[in-house]
Amino acid sequence: MEGLISKLSRSLRGAAPMLARGVHSGTRPASTAASKKRKEQSRLTAEEVYAREDKYGAHNYHPLPVALERAEGLYVWDVDGNRFFDFLSAYSAVNQGHCHPKIVAALNAQASKLTLTSRAFYNDVLGEYEEFITKMFGYDKVLPMNTGVEGGETACKLARKWAYNVKGVPKNQAKIIFADGNFWGRTMAAISSSTDPSSYEGFGPFMPGFELIPYNDIPSLEKALQDPNVAAFMVEPIQGEAGVVVPDQGYLTKVRELCTKHNVLWIADEVQTGLARTGRRLAVDHENARPDVVILGKALSGGIYPVSAVLCDDEVMLTIKPGEHGSTYGGNPLACRVAIAALEVMEDEKLAENADKMGKLLRSELRKLPKDIVSLVRGKGLLNAIVIKETKDYDAWKVCLRLRDNGLLAKPTHGDIIRLAPPLIINEAEVRESVNIIHRTIASF
Ligand code: PLP
Repeated sequence: MEGLISKLSRSLRGAAPMLARGVHSGTRPASTAASKKRKEQSRLTAEEVYAREDKYGAHNYHPLPVALERAEGLYVWDVDGNRFFDFLSAYSAVNQGHCHPKIVAALNAQASKLTLTSRAFYNDVLGEYEEFITKMFGYDKVLPMNTGVEGGETACKLARKWAYNVKGVPKNQAKIIFADGNFWGRTMAAISSSTDPSSYEGFGPFMPGFELIPYNDIPSLEKALQDPNVAAFMVEPIQGEAGVVVPDQGYLTKVRELCTKHNVLWIADEVQTGLARTGRRLAVDHENARPDVVILGKALSGGIYPVSAVLCDDEVMLTIKPGEHGSTYGGNPLACRVAIAALEVMEDEKLAENADKMGKLLRSELRKLPKDIVSLVRGKGLLNAIVIKETKDYDAWKVCLRLRDNGLLAKPTHGDIIRLAPPLIINEAEVRESVNIIHRTIASF
């Protein structure tokens, strides 16, 4: 017996290191030649960073030449150690500031516990997140997805289902109305509603059942809604990618009224405008208007992880049954923990109030820029844009290059517009310092 035990324990002792090697061999990259080589390669110059992406990556973006290496709060640093104000905030995903310690801590804690179960099984975080976010925004239910465009797709599918099951639209006849200049991503459905040729040209045929009306145009909406087959009107409360186009005061209230009158769902795409960016939790809160469906994304994770969500009430949400929609990663425990932390930071740090206050200061300072170069300043909260009057000597791209040289990163949109959207943690001194950079840059032209 003793012999058997000692034999067993010997063989177990022998097995332990083998097991350990087996478990860890794939997670100790520091010891492999390939990872050593990768580490050496990470010490590239900015030019080498550009060249490598250019060689091995698809050319579906045109980045401003700056090679970023790390970030904290309001700032990003390039591979040469230069610090910049980040006035793009990853297209409003980093509202809470880069690498917010509370969100990073939530990610780290959950990452070593449970990351992904798929929705084939329950997990102990999803329900907590669902309760938290639905109570925060006042909707019956949430459908969790990953990217903003998936949120948009989900909202369109919900609208069609609701149209057939609740409103009584004949099969395959449902229509969704969009506004000219909309942007909600790059999938086939999203580009099918786009009015921007660089989004849709060369990618047809397109999704049927989508119609367009001018943005900020109530008579056109009223006319479009006469059609009994209209399921929904999907609209951004401020058009971000179109160049921060702010509709007239009262537009959202009127949209609400008309959609109610014609039994049409109002879908608010708050992927860019939501989560404190415009100085309210949601941009629709500026008019206390309640959409039937709200799409959130980007800052729902504070830039840490792709998390999106669709919020609506049971009448709409419960039209989708098991097996009819979903995503492997949607609602995973890691995403849920990150989203809870990101929303808590938004509330605890009063980001909406700060965005409102700092936005007013930023716009009033930007309005002092020379009108012969900056023809227009517009925005709400910290979602702002300046319109550059192009000449043969300068355009928005050249202005952004010089802003970069002076320590501030921003990106042009549509040739002549520069979006100015810093993380919402910016304080007054930092607004003034960044405005000085913008003034100095514009004055240099
Ligand atoms: N909706 C709006 C209003 C957006 O601005 C964007 C992205 O810029 C999207 C949807 C798509 O989000 P994502 O790029 O995460 O798919």
